[in-house]
Amino acid sequence: MNDYMIRAIAADGQIRAFAATTKDLVEEARKRHDTSPVITAALGRLLTAGVMMGNMMKGEKDTITLKVEGNGPVKALTVIADTKGNVKGFAHVPQVILHANEKGKLDVAGAIGIGVLTVIKDLGLKEPYVGTSMLTTSEIAEDLTYYFATSEQVPSSVALGVLMEKNNTVKQAGGFILQLMPGVDDETITKLEQKISSLTSITSMLDQGMTPEQILEYVIGDFGLEILNRTPVRFHCNCSKEKVRGAIVSLGREDLKELASEGEAVEAHCDFCNTSYWFQPEELEEILAQNEKKKEN
Ligand code: ZN
Repeated sequence: MNDYMIRAIAADGQIRAFAATTKDLVEEARKRHDTSPVITAALGRLLTAGVMMGNMMKGEKDTITLKVEGNGPVKALTVIADTKGNVKGFAHVPQVILHANEKGKLDVAGAIGIGVLTVIKDLGLKEPYVGTSMLTTSEIAEDLTYYFATSEQVPSSVALGVLMEKNNTVKQAGGFILQLMPGVDDETITKLEQKISSLTSITSMLDQGMTPEQILEYVIGDFGLEILNRTPVRFHCNCSKEKVRGAIVSLGREDLKELASEGEAVEAHCDFCNTSYWFQPEELEEILAQNEKKKEN
């Protein structure tokens, strides 16, 4: 796996920046979920944002959930990332076929439609932080820019891109997030705005095979770029048969009895990585016995 992200600052810490190359993890998501090209692009953009936003959190066990829901044919996209570069996600409808938009690009906005973006940060507190904002373009990057401005009051510039090969596998994927820190001076803001408006698109940067370092150097190199760290990123789901078993054990006794009495194997499915876990009737009996024993104690 060659995917990684970098974290950097510029303008003496007045700008913080993240950039990622995510080709392998987006391809992994495409294979696992058998997504159509427009959904590969939509999910790939959200996964790319997820790894960078996961890196913004501080706690070891913190997780961030990004959910895009709309009235378009994909219905919803859900991504969860941690702070260590692991990300997982799925599209509620993985096979959406749409014509290219008027720019000849994959019509991500058409697949998503009008809707909302929800960001849930589980920081290990009693209640998670939940921020919601309307989708502005439904192209994801602009929607996140709007979310940062309105929900977190952090002026940001978000760019996300996924390029496909002719055979619909992933050719390139990546992106960047730039954020202005509190107390930033007007001159830096003006200079950065000018720079951003003069940039070529992220897809053309990716198409040239630019690395995250080269992308940030190109975008904010004039501001004295300082790369702080580099983190490998990957598509990774932390589900396991043991965990699913644990969830079944905690079901109500009546539900468990009913499952076991049917005498058939039961499937538990993880949507995030599209893996099925099967429980044979004997295993269910075992779980039921375990559950009863627990009740007695
Ligand atoms: Zn899973």
